Formats: sequence, structure tokens, C-alpha cells
Amino acid sequence: MDAVLDAARKNDAKHVNEVFIEIGELTALNPDQLKFIFETISAGTVAEGAKYNMEVIKPLISCKKCGYNGAIEFFEKLHFFLPVIRCPKCGDADIDIIAGRECCVKKIKIS
Ligand SMILES: [Zn+2]
Repeated sequence: MDAVLDAARKNDAKHVNEVFIEIGELTALNPDQLKFIFETISAGTVAEGAKYNMEVIKPLISCKKCGYNGAIEFFEKLHFFLPVIRCPKCGDADIDIIAGRECCVKKIKIS
């Protein structure tokens, strides 16, 4: 939210119309919940009444063992713990997470 208001200020925005946000699936954030939070805290700011577009980013990994690059499937949906992520090809847990952990404001539309 700070990022949105910051950008709005820098661009002399009178009003923020739309906000585009990317949420990685691995952050375990609920887009609807997040939207509600944004709407609540933007009340009284230039972003009041803005439309929030949430895009959920699917996780991507890179396996250090077999070189697999790509998407993963969650075998268990855990809401309180982050699941152990394993390579779908060789089953090794020695992987790098390329995408899926982001939570960022991609762009905003102002007037
Ligand atoms: Zn692998």
C-alpha cells in the first residue's frame, strides 16, 4: 500500500483508479482477504475506491540436481505451514524458487 501511495504522490495523482498486484502462490496470501485489507487501508487516501486486480503467480522452481526448470504441483495444501517443495522430476528438495514468493504492486492507473 505504501508503494501505491508513494507512486501516486510522485506522479501528482489526484486519484488512483486501478491497482495491479501480483501475489505468489507460495506466500499463502488469500487474494480476497488482501483485497479487503487494501480497500480498508486506502479509505481516506487518493487510492480510495480504487479497483484492485490481483494476479496469482504460479510457483516456478529450478532443480539443482537434475536441472528441471518449471512449475510444481502442490501435493498437499497447507495453510499454516509452507510445504516442503520438491522437484517433480527427481524428487529432490534441493531447489531454487524462481517465482511464487512475490507480493508486489505491478502497476497503478492514476488520474
Ligand atoms: Zn530434479
